Amino acid sequence: MKVVVTGGAGFIGSAVCRLLAGEKGCEVLNLDKLTYAADLRTVASVSEMANYRFAKQDICNREEVARIFAEFAPDAVMHLAAESHVDRSIDGPNDFIQTNIVGTFTLLEVARAYFDRLSDSRKSAFRFHHVSTDEVYGALGDAGLFTEETPYAPNSPYSASKASSDHLVRAWHHTYGLPVIISNCSNNYGPYQFPEKLVPLMILNILHGRKLPVYGDGLNTRDWLHVEDHAKALFAILTKGRVGEKYNVGGCNEVTNIDVVRKIFDTVKQLVPDVAGERFEDIVEFVRDRPGHDWRYAIDSSKMRSELGWEPAYSFDTGLAQTVQWYVSNREWWEPILKNKYAGARLGQVSETSHD
Ligand code: NAD
Repeated sequence: MKVVVTGGAGFIGSAVCRLLAGEKGCEVLNLDKLTYAADLRTVASVSEMANYRFAKQDICNREEVARIFAEFAPDAVMHLAAESHVDRSIDGPNDFIQTNIVGTFTLLEVARAYFDRLSDSRKSAFRFHHVSTDEVYGALGDAGLFTEETPYAPNSPYSASKASSDHLVRAWHHTYGLPVIISNCSNNYGPYQFPEKLVPLMILNILHGRKLPVYGDGLNTRDWLHVEDHAKALFAILTKGRVGEKYNVGGCNEVTNIDVVRKIFDTVKQLVPDVAGERFEDIVEFVRDRPGHDWRYAIDSSKMRSELGWEPAYSFDTGLAQTVQWYVSNREWWEPILKNKYAGARLGQVSETSHD
């Protein structure tokens, strides 16, 4: 199978490229603009393989993306390219609107024109898989789970832009017959995650003896899934999922933010006992909450499990131990990022100057 993976130099996209080009033996074309969040070292293990290639391109560039499609002749598209950090969407929503909405629209139009010219047999095999987030469903109270039927109620510029892209993808199926599938996943963690996100930020803060900033009272709750389990879920959806359907992907690991940070602290301390303080309470610091911070996300992924036979391999504890170990052993990956791209500053506070 020949697959265009958009955003394949990012955190999840690179795990997808490694899985597809490595274990699954697919032909992969990684199409990525290489924004601040991208890092081609994440695909180093497959970059020399004959079945892998890379194109530096913006999904908003219709002509160039169409040229890449015509040349590569994909059987499927896995669309992961996006601006992905909620806090950055609060500081500057423009890039989120451009890439997540206009970019997805552009990619859909390229895919539609390409699909229309395929033979009937290639048409029936073609898939456009749009990778999205559970954040499109908004916030839950203390009870309940997001199902595939939960109405959309996005609350942040990020989730609103992803919700818009989901709606466009759905409409391109219903109106033009493009064979799409949408998946909505909970919070991912694992190796190669850009250090602005909660799990790596906390690991690196502990390793540097810094305070651990926790938004609000720390009781906001998220479901967590290891990135390699997500990549396997995406492959199952691409190859076995039904056209026109949505699939929720989650780890059944609901944890409050403060407990996530505490678990990270305990895990780092086990591996590197002489870092940070002795007591978690001494280094945790409750800071002003994120504006519009969703209270709780929890996902019902029973459709994935019963229909596609997918199960995550990692529990949150085993996945976190693997992740912490990876960051401890891979300083050469994150040190240049902290030095050149992002030093750990607080993002996403609404202020007079936060206008695009
Ligand atoms: P990421 O920020 O790590 O990577 C995004 C990648 O997209 C980067 O390599 C970037 O260069 C690329 N990109 C951005 N704009 C582009 C453009 N205009 N053209 C081409 N490439 C562009 O993101 P991630 O965490 O890997 O997330 C990947 C996808 O999964 C996103 O669509 C995100 O919404 C979704 N998702 C993420 C999570 C999560 O927890 N990280 C959870 C559920 C869904």
